Amino acid sequence: MVQEEIRRRNVGALLRHVHLGGSVSRTELAERMKLNRSTILALTAELTSAGLVREELPADTGRAGRPSLVVRPEPGRVYVLAFDVAVDRLVAARVTLGGTMLDRREAVRLRAGADLDRVVEVLARFGRQLHESAPPDSVCVGVGASYCGMIRPGDGLVRFGPDMGWVDQAFGAELDRRLGLGLPVSVGNEAHLGALAEQQRGAGAGFQNLIYLHGDVGVGGGIIVGGDLLDGESGYGCELGHMVVNPYDGRPCGCGSHGCLEAEAGERALLDAAGRPADLFGRDAVRAVVDDADRGDPAAQEALRRIGDWLGIGVANLCNLFNPGMVIFGGMLRDMYPGAAAQVRARIAANVLPVARERVRLRTSALGDDATLVGAAELGFAELLADPLGVLTRTGA
Ligand SMILES: [Zn+2]
Repeated sequence: MVQEEIRRRNVGALLRHVHLGGSVSRTELAERMKLNRSTILALTAELTSAGLVREELPADTGRAGRPSLVVRPEPGRVYVLAFDVAVDRLVAARVTLGGTMLDRREAVRLRAGADLDRVVEVLARFGRQLHESAPPDSVCVGVGASYCGMIRPGDGLVRFGPDMGWVDQAFGAELDRRLGLGLPVSVGNEAHLGALAEQQRGAGAGFQNLIYLHGDVGVGGGIIVGGDLLDGESGYGCELGHMVVNPYDGRPCGCGSHGCLEAEAGERALLDAAGRPADLFGRDAVRAVVDDADRGDPAAQEALRRIGDWLGIGVANLCNLFNPGMVIFGGMLRDMYPGAAAQVRARIAANVLPVARERVRLRTSALGDDATLVGAAELGFAELLADPLGVLTRTGA
């Protein structure tokens, strides 16, 4: 039994290396997994006969001698459905083993208050379309969804999503019911998933300690320490946007408090600082400020600097607390950051202890607006990667 458990874990671990690495030689797998080559051979043979990987000769290695075969993910056998619910948009994608997005659908989400029915209706329709257009011999093995709110682990209940007034909305269960695929929908917080995606496939690859800040309307966060996401006692950790940076005369925040990081450095703060009218909002409005600043408009430049200073205060606190190797700015912050970088750096220089800041790198998201969607796809793959052959049996593949 113990033996069987070890084998299952190793099969999953090997598939994970190949899924994330794209193409990994047997020699490299043996080194990374600390297993001998004959074990790697046996594990690879199991995954090959299950149709999940294939082995092939590498492209010219430039070295003499017989090259080690590389193991690649087999893209046609299994896929997941990934969903991303942001404040202003809904996205669905079919993602194959190896992480390639094969097909996607996108719709605008209106800022019209609690809209569970519409969100689920649109996503379920997209999901069924993606499922029906998949090749008949390929199997859906998981469903992952990213939501811009606080998610109860286990059942995907959105406990609190202040931007749209969602409180205790049964998002995961409803999406599961309307999709009707017989596969549970795993739901995660968008910034948590963005952090993991950037670490697995993006700017933070190779970093075990990083912080991801995700700008939507507000600011979300994901903190990875020693390779693991900090999710807290009940799964609601890393709400970096509600770190208080300006308690005395701070702007009101959607959470009911004042002076939170997202109140001072979120979308509305930037648009107000740039003197934009109150009825103007959304990503295009933010980009217009950034474009104006790039063209030399002093008011837009000053607005970015002001926001950058608040952002820098938040980042400085985080650097002192967590000593990250990298801080990544994603979502809307990816647009804002270049014009605010000087202020962020100045705050780090002024407020972070020298030894805690000497190695921190500041980057924008490499996965761009897909970071959260990629994270959702990885959530969908989690069960397969834990027990590949068991999942194939359960899904009748
Ligand atoms: Zn707040």
